[in-house]
Amino acid sequence: MRSESESKAKEIICIICPVGCRIIVKRDKNSSSGYSVSGNECKKGEAYGIEELTNPTRVLTTTVKIEGALYNRLPVRTDGAIPKDKIFACMKVINRIEVKAPVKVGKVIIENILDTGIHLIASRSMLRSMLRSMLRSIKAS
Ligand code: SF4
Repeated sequence: MRSESESKAKEIICIICPVGCRIIVKRDKNSSSGYSVSGNECKKGEAYGIEELTNPTRVLTTTVKIEGALYNRLPVRTDGAIPKDKIFACMKVINRIEVKAPVKVGKVIIENILDTGIHLIASRSMLRSMLRSMLRSIKAS
């Protein structure tokens, strides 16, 4: 029969670097962190494994609608990691907005998204497109 600590063991692929260690994290009352981590080749993997088990977070990268640019979508990302369980709620907020060109890389698109303390920012600059404006006026005439 498996002990309680063994049943809570979780296998995780570390994504901190390209090595991609397969690490096992489990509760360990005897460890100062409360967890034991194995399979990691460095200390970063240990910290990552414990965080993945206790408070998994991700940097969210996606796109938003943009008006007046050559392209219809502007690449955006969060300027820090947000709790994984808030990603879908964040996407609902992001999918409702539309920005106007021009946009400069790093511009804050949504401040403090869902009170996470993290901002959604533009991942690239996008100029106003004269071509789009011309096409729009040709269609209108
Ligand atoms: S444990 Fe260390 S070496 Fe392994 S993937 Fe993570 S960061 Fe890279």
